[in-house]
Amino acid sequence: MTLSRADLYTDLLRIGAGMKIGVLSDTHDNLAATAAALRHFEQAGVEALLHGGDYCAPFALKRILQARIPLEGVFGNCDGEREGLAKLLPSLADGPRHLELGGKKICLIHDRQRLKHENFEASDIVVFGHTHEPKVERQEGRLVVNPGEGGGWMSGRCTVAIIDTRTLTADIAEVYEQVRT
Ligand SMILES: [Zn+2]
Repeated sequence: MTLSRADLYTDLLRIGAGMKIGVLSDTHDNLAATAAALRHFEQAGVEALLHGGDYCAPFALKRILQARIPLEGVFGNCDGEREGLAKLLPSLADGPRHLELGGKKICLIHDRQRLKHENFEASDIVVFGHTHEPKVERQEGRLVVNPGEGGGWMSGRCTVAIIDTRTLTADIAEVYEQVRT
């Protein structure tokens, strides 16, 4: 496929303008919290979603897909029903996954401990989950983001992140309060 000059120009404009990416992880079947996260992303006008794993059941992933925002994700350690999940989102795989969005190279992984240095070096942005603790760090010029636990079952705080690829920054927001069980 050859891109026309007009397409190339549009692509360049898009890269220059950056892209807002909604990031969530560890939503653990919490549909109410997921709905709140999606409302937050829609209001912010995000153009893509990343999920760091632990959806857990296929119905919970289905809820995210209903937002009709392009989604990329990885499996988490609690995602038992992989076949059902992959049926809904065929690109789902074990991390690390390398993607490119808004002109930035992104590495997506559930457990940061499994990230190899070469994965880190090949990325502008690293997104992970698993610890359920929201975190935004800058490491050797890279942006490292954990949106925290979207499901809020552990802390009661359902958090997500929005990455701006132009400024290479991320904002964490609490979108829902979950009564702890
Ligand atoms: Zn989890």
